[in-house]
Amino acid sequence: MENSKFCQSCSMPIDTQENRGTESDGSLNAEYCKYCYQNGLFTNPDMTLTDMRSIVKTEMEKRNISSDIIAGALNILPGLKRWVR
Ligand SMILES: [Zn+2]
Repeated sequence: MENSKFCQSCSMPIDTQENRGTESDGSLNAEYCKYCYQNGLFTNPDMTLTDMRSIVKTEMEKRNISSDIIAGALNILPGLKRWVR
């Protein structure tokens, strides 16, 4: 899998520039989406992996995404850069 195409915090696809986070100088970040990362900082720096799992699940359920795909996204989360220590 090509990591750069998914946000390394929430697993959202970031293959379009509009979805990418921004650095403090206004340039685009290649690894995180605009919801997770803005102006060079995480929008919610205290968030834990557990918090992120519940947010991703809730957001995907709101969009009527199938449970198989939701489960797949939740499985990806622990391996993303933000959560790997
Ligand atoms: Zn994200």
